[in-house]
Amino acid sequence: MNSEAKVEVSNAVKAFLSRELSLFIDGAPCPAHSSTRLDVFDPSTGQKLASVPDADAIDVDRAVANARQAFREGRWRSLRPAERERILLRFADVLDAHGEELAQLETLNQGKSINVSRMIDVGATLEYVRYMAGWATKITGETLDVSIPFPPGARFTAYTRKEPVGVVAGIVPWNFPLMIAVWKLIPALAAGCTIVIKPSPETPLTALRLAELAVEAGVPAGVFNVVTGGRDCGAALAAHPDVNKISFTGSTPTGKLIGAAAVQNMTRFSLELGGKNPAVMLADVDVDQAVQGVLAGGFLNQGQVCAAVSRIYVHRDKYRAIADGLADVANAMTIGPGLDPSAQVNPLVSAHHRTRVEAHIARAKADGLRFIAGGERPEQAGYYVRPTVIDDVPPDAAIIRDEVFGPVLALVPFDNVPDAVRLANDSPYGLAASLWTNDLRAAMNLVPQFEAGTVWVNCHVPLDPSMPFGGYKQSGIGREFGKHAIDGFTETKAVCIAH
Ligand code: NAD
Repeated sequence: MNSEAKVEVSNAVKAFLSRELSLFIDGAPCPAHSSTRLDVFDPSTGQKLASVPDADAIDVDRAVANARQAFREGRWRSLRPAERERILLRFADVLDAHGEELAQLETLNQGKSINVSRMIDVGATLEYVRYMAGWATKITGETLDVSIPFPPGARFTAYTRKEPVGVVAGIVPWNFPLMIAVWKLIPALAAGCTIVIKPSPETPLTALRLAELAVEAGVPAGVFNVVTGGRDCGAALAAHPDVNKISFTGSTPTGKLIGAAAVQNMTRFSLELGGKNPAVMLADVDVDQAVQGVLAGGFLNQGQVCAAVSRIYVHRDKYRAIADGLADVANAMTIGPGLDPSAQVNPLVSAHHRTRVEAHIARAKADGLRFIAGGERPEQAGYYVRPTVIDDVPPDAAIIRDEVFGPVLALVPFDNVPDAVRLANDSPYGLAASLWTNDLRAAMNLVPQFEAGTVWVNCHVPLDPSMPFGGYKQSGIGREFGKHAIDGFTETKAVCIAH
């Protein structure tokens, strides 16, 4: 590693890490009732960075009560929509001004490259905040031409109103901690809701800083609260009877628990869950474009991306060129901490997660599969796994079926296109898929056949705030982004006036 290239941690980040971190309730840091604390680590060294409270049910109750009070008093929803929009745009400016601090904090805590933190976790997040702020002034209902026959001669006018759903619980995973918190926070606020965010216990730091910066931007106290904690804290939030909507991103098993808890209170919920996302490459695929696209779509954030490509079906005519191209690049990738901008492979988020990823790799080895890149951890401190490419995998292998959520690509050759599409769809998941071809007719005919919430053609993983995002099948319920995000944080009220 070239140590000169390593980013120096800023004073703002050092100051944040030296604080006794607490919950964030009613517009300020707030000591927890719970005396248990959770340590937070730097995945590139395994050393402790900070600790946060492991909030208990009493803490969750306090955060929800505060969000409820802010909602009931109309501190936020009774502002004119244009005022809400302006405050959210100011929030984006404040985040922009603190962009480097947030990027460094994310890299230190999550492990990812500082380049990714700057470009995506902060850069794309800013785009999202500014896009979604604009929705505050564009929420509309409909007027309805009703045909109600009674009483005879009466006339009616009916219309719908979109009203904020109320108190939102946003439960967030560890792969894009700041960005996914914002995916929940900003549309909820644009719609006029108040919110309690629970970040992952592995990566709680940027959500706490986000809440402080929201207050600096003018978001009123109690509108945006943060509770830190693990599974019990999340479960208390999901089961809380005074939460009106749960917006969850995480694993499919946890999503099922949350859905079951939500139904007990008729709490609305949306679930963005796991994926095992295929790429299908036809015989005319552009090999260089596909190799570059798969590297970006498969190894971004060490493959800890719900929409990452992990199963790659390639027409036999191009199979060897694609497989060797991917293996050559994967084998040449440089390994190092996220703060070294030249390092192409960074640590996984935690020791625990690396153990999970390595168990999938061990199973693939036990199944006798052929590794043409990676398959092992490098000899250095930190939770690294080498980028891994597995060749000529039988379509029913465990590595094809199970979500690894790590830097592991499984390649499968095919001879005819209907078989490839059938194999691509042969998964309990349905978050995303990509098709690689320049044959327009093939693309137009095949896109509708994929059972996936997003289908990319000749790329894999670009998102945009306007593009609905969510899963078919076990990859979730509901859609985030665009108008769909606003729909998820509003109730529809029908109004009927006799005149
Ligand atoms: P996870 O399900 O273990 O945890 C997600 C969040 O839920 C964490 O904040 C956790 O503390 C909390 N939680 C755990 N148990 C809970 C319970 N019983 N009740 C309420 N909350 C609970 O997921 P993870 O390991 O943090 O993230 C990885 C998973 O997330 C992968 O499966 C990945 O595919 C998925 N993911 C999906 C998307 C998407 O948009 N579809 C995006 C990112 C990650």
